[in-house]
Amino acid sequence: MEKKLLSIVVPAYNEQESLPLFYNAIIEIEQKLNNVDIELLIIDDGSKDNTLSVIKELKKKDSRVHYVSFSRNFGKEAGIFAGLKHSKGDYVVMMDADLQDPPALLPEMLKYLESGEYQCVATRRVDRKGEPPIRSWFARKFYRLMNKISDADIVDGARDYQMMTRKVVEAILSMGEYNRFSKGIFGWVGFKRKWLEFENTERIAGETKWSFWKLFIYAIDGIVAFSTAPLTMVSLLGLIMCMVAFLFIIVIIIRTLVFGDPTNGWPSMVCIILLVSGIQLSCLGIIGQYMAKTYLETKHRPIYIIGETDEEQE
Ligand code: UDP
Ligand code: MG
Repeated sequence: MEKKLLSIVVPAYNEQESLPLFYNAIIEIEQKLNNVDIELLIIDDGSKDNTLSVIKELKKKDSRVHYVSFSRNFGKEAGIFAGLKHSKGDYVVMMDADLQDPPALLPEMLKYLESGEYQCVATRRVDRKGEPPIRSWFARKFYRLMNKISDADIVDGARDYQMMTRKVVEAILSMGEYNRFSKGIFGWVGFKRKWLEFENTERIAGETKWSFWKLFIYAIDGIVAFSTAPLTMVSLLGLIMCMVAFLFIIVIIIRTLVFGDPTNGWPSMVCIILLVSGIQLSCLGIIGQYMAKTYLETKHRPIYIIGETDEEQE
C-alpha cells in the first residue's frame, strides 16, 4: 500500500533561531510517524532576518523541505492560507515555528485521522502559564463573548495547531475571504473534530509577535468576521433610547403644564447631549467597522503575494 503524505505547514516570521530547532524536533518525532511520508512546508512571512536563508539551508539538507516566501509581511493568517493552498498531503497539520505546539502530539493526532472516525484533530492549551494575567483575563472574556454571539464554534485556548484531512483543507480553502480569522474559519467549516489538550510551553527562541494592542485588534476582527450581533445591539440601543426620550417628553410636558416653565436644568442637558452624541458616535464606529471590512472584501485583493518559492506557481 502506498504511504500517505503528511504536510507540516509552518508560518514563520523572523524565526531564524527557532527553525533549525523546530526541524530537529520534527526529525526526532518522525520515527514515530512510520505510516506516512512527510513534507515540511515553511511559509516565510516576509521575515526581516535570515529566516529565508535558514530555510534554504534546511532544504539543501533535506529535499522534503519546501518553502513559499511572501513579498512582505502579510500576517500569520495569510501564511496559513498559503500553506494550506500549497500543501500536497493527504493530511495537513499547522504548527508554529517556536515549538509552542508540541510535536509529541503528532503521532496521536495522526492516529485519530487514520482511524477515519475524525476528519480533524485540534488542540487547546489548558493553561496560560507564562502569560501576563491581564492578557489571559481578556482572552477568556473574548472567547466567552465570541461563543455567545457567533455560530462559529470557538474554543478557549484553541491553537492553530490542527491536523486535518484533505477534505477539510479543501473546505477551508473554499472560504476565500480576505479578512481571515482562522480560529473562526476552522470552527465554521464543521466536520467531526477531536480535541487534544496540552500544557502551555514557552517559545523556544526569538520573541512573540503579539502585543496587547495587536491582540485587541485581532479580537475585533474576529468579532466582525463572525458575528453581526453588534449591529443588532446598536439597533436595539437606538430603540431603547428613543423610548426613554419619549417618556421624558411626556414627563416634561406634564411638568410644564403643572408647574410652568422655569429655565433650569442646563447642566443636566449638557450631560445628556454629551452622552447621547457619544453613544451615537460609537455606534457609527461599529457600523463603520463592518463597512470597512465589506470595502476590503469587495476589492478582492490577493491574500498574499509570493516573492519566491520552490513550489510550482499556478
Ligand atoms: N507568524 C507569522 N506572521 C506574523 C506573525 C507570526 O507567520 O506576522 C508566525 C510565527 O513565526 C510563529 C507563529 O506565527 O510561527 C506564532 O507566532 P507567535 O509565536 O509570535 O505567537 P504566539 O505563540 O505568541 O501566539
Ligand atoms: Mg508562539
